[in-house]
Amino acid sequence: MECDKCGADAIHHAAYSGAHLCGDHLRKSVEKRVKRRIREDGLLDPDATPDDPDRWVIGLSGGKDSVALTQILDDVFGKDPRVEMLALTIHEGIEGYRDASVDATIELADDLSLRHELVSYEEEFDVRMDDVVEDDPEDMAACAYCGVFRRDLLENYAAEFDADKLLTGHNLDDEAQTAMMNFLEGDVRQVAKHFDASLGPLDEREATDAFVPRAKPLRDVPEKEIALYCHVRDLPTHMAECPHAEEAYRGEIQSTIHELEENHPGARHSIMAGYEELSALAADAYRGDAGAGGPGDETGENDGGSSALRECERCGSQTSRDVCRKCRLLESIEAV
Ligand code: SF4
Ligand SMILES: [Zn+2]
Ligand SMILES: [Zn+2]
Repeated sequence: MECDKCGADAIHHAAYSGAHLCGDHLRKSVEKRVKRRIREDGLLDPDATPDDPDRWVIGLSGGKDSVALTQILDDVFGKDPRVEMLALTIHEGIEGYRDASVDATIELADDLSLRHELVSYEEEFDVRMDDVVEDDPEDMAACAYCGVFRRDLLENYAAEFDADKLLTGHNLDDEAQTAMMNFLEGDVRQVAKHFDASLGPLDEREATDAFVPRAKPLRDVPEKEIALYCHVRDLPTHMAECPHAEEAYRGEIQSTIHELEENHPGARHSIMAGYEELSALAADAYRGDAGAGGPGDETGENDGGSSALRECERCGSQTSRDVCRKCRLLESIEAV
C-alpha cells in the first residue's frame, strides 16, 4: 500500500479516516494533532513571559506515550522562554519493569537536555509496589494502591516545583476507556470532575487552588499510532507491561472498545466527542456541589465525596475526610 501523500510505502492504515501513511507522514500527522490539541486546550498561558514563565511538569514513565509527549513538547516549546519544563519519573518499586523504563527516561532527558527528577515510592512513602502486592492488606488490585500513591506524589511534586500544569501522555484509547468506564458506572459526578481536572480547555475549567490542572495533549491520537511514532523517530522507550497490571474492569472495557473499533472504525473518536460535550454540561451542572472537586479521573479518588475538601491531618494533602486515602492505605500496609 502507498502513502496517500507521497506515494512511498505506507506503514499504517487508519481505518477510521481511510488514510494510508508512510513513516514521515505519520509523524507529521501525529504532531499536527498534538499541536492542535495544545492550541485548543489553551495549554500555554497567554500571560506567560520569559520573566514569569508557565511551569509544566511532564509525567515521564519511559513508556511510549510519555516519551512521545516529552519529545513533542520539547520540539515545540523547548526553546520557548515562556515555558519552563521539568520531566518527573516515578519509580514504584517494581523490580525489573521500572528499572528498564527509568533507563529510557534518563536517555531521553539527556538527549533533550531536559531537567529530570526521579522519585520513588520507597523514598517518599517507604513502600515498594512489589511488597504491597504481596501483602495486599486491603484486598485490592495493585493499580488501586499504585494510583493513589502516584497521584499524591505527582500533586506534591507539582506543588513543590510551583507547577502551573501537570501533563501526562494518555492517548485516545486510554481516554475512551476512562470515558466508557464513567458512563457504565453511571457516575455523572465523576464525568463532571473529569472536565475540570483534565479534559476541558484550560480557560473553561473551574480554577481551584487545591489541585494542579492536568492536560493530556496526546488524547486525540490512537495508541498504535503513538507506538509507530516512537518507532519512526527511534525514541528510547520501554515497551514491557507492568507485571502487576490487573485492572480487570479496564481490561474488559479495553477489549470491548477494541472490538467496537474493529467493526465500526471511528468508535473511539465518537465516544470521546460525545463524552467531552457531556462532561462540559455535567461540570456546569455540578459546580459548587460538594464532593465534585478534585482530579479523580484516573483512579476514582472519590474518598467518600460528601463534604468539602480540607487538609489531611497527617500529611496536609487535600481530602474530603480527616485522613486522606493515601495515609489510610499506608497505615494498613504498615499494620501487616
Ligand atoms: S500497571 Fe498498575 S501497578 Fe503497574 S505501575 Fe501501573 S498503576 Fe502501578
Ligand atoms: Zn508519505
Ligand atoms: Zn494524608
